[in-house]
Amino acid sequence: MLETTRIKKIKILVLNSGSSSLKFQLFDIKNFHLLASGLVEQIGEKHSFAHMKYATGIHQKENIRQPACQDYSVADHQQAIEIMFDMLKESSCLTRMEELAGIGHRVVHGGEDFHDPVLINDQVIATIERLIPLAPLHNPANLTGIRVTKQRSPEIPQVAVFDTSCHQSIPGHAYIYGLPYTLYEKQQVRRYGFHGTSHHYVVQQAAIYLDKKISKLKLISLHLGNGTSAAAIQYGKSIDTSMGMTPLEGLIMGTRCGDIDPAIPFYLARETGMTLQEIEDLLNKRSGLKGICGQNDMRAVVKQAAKGDAGSELAIRIFCYHIKKYIGAYMAALNGIDAIIFTGGIGENSNLIRERSCENLQNLGVDIDPVKNNASSNKIRGIHCDLAQVKVLVIPTNEELAIAMQTVKLVHP
Ligand code: AMP
Repeated sequence: MLETTRIKKIKILVLNSGSSSLKFQLFDIKNFHLLASGLVEQIGEKHSFAHMKYATGIHQKENIRQPACQDYSVADHQQAIEIMFDMLKESSCLTRMEELAGIGHRVVHGGEDFHDPVLINDQVIATIERLIPLAPLHNPANLTGIRVTKQRSPEIPQVAVFDTSCHQSIPGHAYIYGLPYTLYEKQQVRRYGFHGTSHHYVVQQAAIYLDKKISKLKLISLHLGNGTSAAAIQYGKSIDTSMGMTPLEGLIMGTRCGDIDPAIPFYLARETGMTLQEIEDLLNKRSGLKGICGQNDMRAVVKQAAKGDAGSELAIRIFCYHIKKYIGAYMAALNGIDAIIFTGGIGENSNLIRERSCENLQNLGVDIDPVKNNASSNKIRGIHCDLAQVKVLVIPTNEELAIAMQTVKLVHP
């Protein structure tokens, strides 16, 4: 007992559970130095595997449990969490649970109930559970993470950081659909928006980089990864975003269709006899870049296009055209902007997508400098021409770091 009280609570663990994966990161509470970073993938499938990187001082050591595909078949998120704790212990990154000052969880859907990160208690758990119908693939996995870690160490404070909460500032005219109002009142049908942790993080970083108060800035944040979304941020608050009641709406994504005519599913059902489940699967998993050119990984799409594949070239054009339309829409919504932010795997790494998305926008003050855009870097940077009215920034996102920081704020107010 005495020994326990002497252990310093110096670490923060962040859990980011997807429907079939568990991403985790361990941070030093003092300086948010990353101590370990790992992933358990293909949970519930035959070839699950887990790997983790950790650093000792300035040296990086690998502790990758590969090829472990045959050894592991991780049945569920509960087992994935056990594996995570085993790996953290075996690598001496976390020898005692008592070293943890807090655990932060990414929770995908907070509905209208959560406007900010919260300390988790029974009521919070019950609310996340009630919201499962709005995120049936994600909220259950997030809840398992919360429950298993709570069971293991009930005394460690846990924090939920919601993907939706940053968009709770969106006004009614942007979140109510043109549907009977009772659907909003009775079934909570409305725009919620996602990627909130990422948008919030990069917007704060933009203000620091531009050396301006966030309360003075109008920004468009473009999170372009496997999932893609745009957000209009006015003086630090989200006033509109492209994802809707679910992450299917908005920009074209790796496998998701984004905005389409809502009559298409009915037409498909009538003409092809597809079931609701088949159509849902089509729109979520077989559409977007993959549906257009057969590849959902943007690197592969770009490579194929460079070799002259017309389908891939078309996919890139559609992807960028949709981004450009949202830039125009949000410039109008914000009555002019100070900066556009590119983030996410594609936004941070693809000069081609950035160039094409901002092409021919000079009349709106957007002018990318090709030399700056083509220079490779993993640092925050401006890629606009010196005299351009609108700054264009590339900002690496870090959702786990953002969750760790929010967790510390709540456990050490
Ligand atoms: P994320 O979901 O943020 O991890 O982003 C994943 C997406 O980023 C995938 O479509 C990757 O192909 C894409 N990506 C990563 N690096 C590059 C790159 N250098 N060029 C184009 N796309 C990239």
